Amino acid sequence: MAGGHHAKADPQRVLADPRFAQLSALVVGEGETRVTALLGDANRRAELPGVMWRDHLLGTTAVGISDGPTAYWVAPDINELTVDRRFLPQDPYRASDGRMEANLVCSRGCPYECTFCGAAASMNADIAIRTRTPENIIAEMHQLNRRYGCTAFRAVDDLFLGARRIIHPAMEAFTAARIGERYVWDATGRINVLDREDDTVLDTLRANGLREVALGIESGAPRVLRAMDKRITPEMTLTVTHRLLERGINVKGYFILGYPGETRGEALDTVRHVRDLWDLSDRLPGTFRASVFTFRPYPGSPVFNNLVKQGYDPEAMQTYHDVDLTDHGADEKMRERDEFNFTTGQQFGEVPLTQLNDWLAELSREQHERTNATGAVNA
Ligand code: SF4
Repeated sequence: MAGGHHAKADPQRVLADPRFAQLSALVVGEGETRVTALLGDANRRAELPGVMWRDHLLGTTAVGISDGPTAYWVAPDINELTVDRRFLPQDPYRASDGRMEANLVCSRGCPYECTFCGAAASMNADIAIRTRTPENIIAEMHQLNRRYGCTAFRAVDDLFLGARRIIHPAMEAFTAARIGERYVWDATGRINVLDREDDTVLDTLRANGLREVALGIESGAPRVLRAMDKRITPEMTLTVTHRLLERGINVKGYFILGYPGETRGEALDTVRHVRDLWDLSDRLPGTFRASVFTFRPYPGSPVFNNLVKQGYDPEAMQTYHDVDLTDHGADEKMRERDEFNFTTGQQFGEVPLTQLNDWLAELSREQHERTNATGAVNA
């Protein structure tokens, strides 16, 4: 069996790949219930929606078809799914601050449309957006605490703090369960949503143990942010980050250099934006850390499809090379960071890749030094 993002974005390509000649089921989308059924009886593939395979006799692609409701198979109730961590040797883990830490998934799906993202709503028509009940999330925290001594959690969802109707009930339940007295937790969030929340809500998030929020900041240029459909402005990011950092909530920001059509001035706006946010955190209790990447068009994202329409070669856009952050070997401590940064070797904006990679290496090295200086978790 195979599945995952590429399988969903381009199933025909995977099925046609000779390296997958032995594949008996390509499971498109959320796999838990269908994989369980297939492990019990591989012949069920014909009745499972979103399962594909190659019919070698006919040379065609076959697809499973369900004659009943499909929600259980393609978008199961995530309150019903539990993770058996005996099979996850790296989770929970001892974090660098000494805490036992575990990853949680609190929600699935995202209603937003960021053009570079494979989780964009229009690319995932099969995904109903679901959030676990706060009680269900709290029960898993307590269970991980009892079994493994976990006191720190990371909600690694595409987007957890992404809507008022999710944040408010979750925080009411966290307050009632006095989560902030026992645990700390990190989560993904949206700048425009946090911008609309008043100070009391941010205070409550902090009191309930929110340690770090990961935000898609992406660019310091308003035009590029509009092209990405981010629904934020650089000023909004500065305000929200300020309000979080002054409460001691750390912020991790993601940035993209070299988005299609980005000018040199716009790329430099992003470099400056990172520096402004570092400056802010130098004056406030929370820490800000930047994760910067050069633009890579992911299959299954709106911008990838647009670039294909403009004539870019989809194969070339999926051929990756490493990015050297070590200053040509001079800075060995950056070697371990290389794995997070790779490139298609193609230029999509005005600035040549060599220049973008120099800025990227410069920002990454500075972040590395800042992290070491503050002892912040480096992930
Ligand atoms: S970048 Fe984040 S907010 Fe935007 S579509 Fe992807 S998951 Fe949603």
